[in-house]
Amino acid sequence: MYCHKCGKENIDSAKFCKGCGVQLVDTQFGSSSRKNKTSPQIVILIVLSLGVLTAILTNPSEAEHKSAVADLLKQSAFENVLETATESENEFEIAGSALGYSLGVSFVDRIVEMGVTRNNYLLFSTTKFNYQGKSRTVGYGVFGNVSISKNIKRAMQE
Ligand SMILES: [Zn+2]
Repeated sequence: MYCHKCGKENIDSAKFCKGCGVQLVDTQFGSSSRKNKTSPQIVILIVLSLGVLTAILTNPSEAEHKSAVADLLKQSAFENVLETATESENEFEIAGSALGYSLGVSFVDRIVEMGVTRNNYLLFSTTKFNYQGKSRTVGYGVFGNVSISKNIKRAMQE
C-alpha cells in the first residue's frame, strides 16, 4: 500500500505512514471486510429460503394425514386382537376379536375418510379429527412426516 500523501510504500496493515506519519486509510481492506460481513448473511438467507421451500414442498397432503391416522388406529385394533388371543383360552372369544378386528378395519377406513381433515399452514399442517360432533387436533405433519398423537384412541373411546 502506498501513502496517499507522500507516496511512500507501507505494509498493508500499517495504520500510519512510516514516511510522513499521516493516517493511512486502506480502502481495499475496508471493502473486503465489508464483503466478508455480508456473505454469511447471504448464506443464512439461502439456507433459510431452502428450508422454507423444502418445508412447503414436503408439507404432507390430506391423504398422508388420513393414512397416518388409519395406520395408528388399525395398529391399535390389531394389538387388541393379539392381547385377546394371548390372554384368552376361549376360541370363540378369539374368533370374535378377530372378527371385530376386520370390522374395525373397515370402520377405521370409513371414519378416517369422513372425519380426518388437514389444516394447511403452508410450512406444516395439522391433523383434524372430527368424531361425533367434536373436532380435535390429533397430529401434525412437517417435512414429509405425519405424527399422530396416541390420544386419538382416547378420543374415540369417549
Ligand atoms: Zn506518507
